[in-house]
Amino acid sequence: MKQRRVYLDNSATTVVDPEVVMEMQSYFFDVYGNASSFHYFGRQAKMALNDARRKIADMLNAESEEIFFNGCGTESDNIAIFGILNAYDKKGHIITTKIEHPAVLYTCKYLEKNGYEVTYLGVNKDGVVLVEDFKKAVKDNTLLVTIMHANNEVGSIQPIENIALELKRINEERKDKIYFHTDAVQTAGKIRLNVKKLGIDLLSMSAHKFNGPKGVGALYVKKGVNISPITFGGHHENGLRPGTENIPYIVGFAKALEISHNRIEEYDKRIFSLREKLKKCILDIIPEVVINGSGNKAVSNILNVSFNYIEGESLLLMLDMKGIAVSTGSACASGSAEPSHVLSAMSVDPISAQGAIRFSFDCHNTEEDVDYVLEVLPEIVSSLRSMSPVWSQKTFESKNKN
Ligand code: PLP
Repeated sequence: MKQRRVYLDNSATTVVDPEVVMEMQSYFFDVYGNASSFHYFGRQAKMALNDARRKIADMLNAESEEIFFNGCGTESDNIAIFGILNAYDKKGHIITTKIEHPAVLYTCKYLEKNGYEVTYLGVNKDGVVLVEDFKKAVKDNTLLVTIMHANNEVGSIQPIENIALELKRINEERKDKIYFHTDAVQTAGKIRLNVKKLGIDLLSMSAHKFNGPKGVGALYVKKGVNISPITFGGHHENGLRPGTENIPYIVGFAKALEISHNRIEEYDKRIFSLREKLKKCILDIIPEVVINGSGNKAVSNILNVSFNYIEGESLLLMLDMKGIAVSTGSACASGSAEPSHVLSAMSVDPISAQGAIRFSFDCHNTEEDVDYVLEVLPEIVSSLRSMSPVWSQKTFESKNKN
């Protein structure tokens, strides 16, 4: 019999929407010119590029000239951070959080080794940064704030608007402006992003997180922001990201974002109800589980659950054997034996942190997917626990007490 497959790792990446592939196709075979060329083929490609840029800008309440295409979310983050710092003729202080994706976290660690001072803000038990902590962290030499919009492991949404408001006040009294970047890779296509309302200067996105193709990202850079390129070459993307633009993927990016935007509320409602059903049933059926992160201040598609007294990696492997794809921590961190830096920052008990699993949904998941997980999960958890000496000791003690 064919193995049933349930994909619940949509925060790692998503399936590409067939409509997106259809839209991309002619840009491989018909409109394949270089957008910098002056002939017909080039002009056609340039039109597609401009069109995609304008569509994305409109959805973000930005201007076309403020959107810069590149290779992925990681590249967007790197261009934003290094680009802002390189534009200053001095080193200084950066504020970020302990729960950033490695694309930001390791960039900051690198900068720290190279003469910059970095403050890593902590988070509360729901995985949310406190505005008060941010205010206290600002220094005379602060140059950049980079705080993610939603966390990729637990889904917690950060108070970006409130931090931006504080920063605006702080900037009014300073000569050197502190710029504000947010990594919105986990919210683009899931939450309507309005860059003006958010109050940020730079914002990173990646198409493969919202049913677009892998290998294409975009960075919003507010007009007037002083930013330098970090790679050098031609005049593409106004010189900020040299290299021939990948028109089919850029067209795919715009189409995927458009599809998500057109159905954002409908998708959100459906995904939220699937997640809540899974959460409620897990809590009802399986003892010793902990939900990591707050449902109210989090994106709808992520459910991070700790199954105490088992290893998340073992659970992941056994679910995989049953055809269910989930993740422990982020895809980029899996394979490391260290407990998740996000759960550690949230002060999650080490026993719980070890047994954490992320289920992440998208619009293609169904009630049947959730039912199938609920059919196989309890048995896997109890069989793994039966092999755990700590669990055996615990059940032995509680039986004897009764
Ligand atoms: N930032 C966040 C919050 C992410 O979740 C990811 C990917 O998981 C990235 C950045 C990196 O994006 P990409 O895979 O497109 O480089």
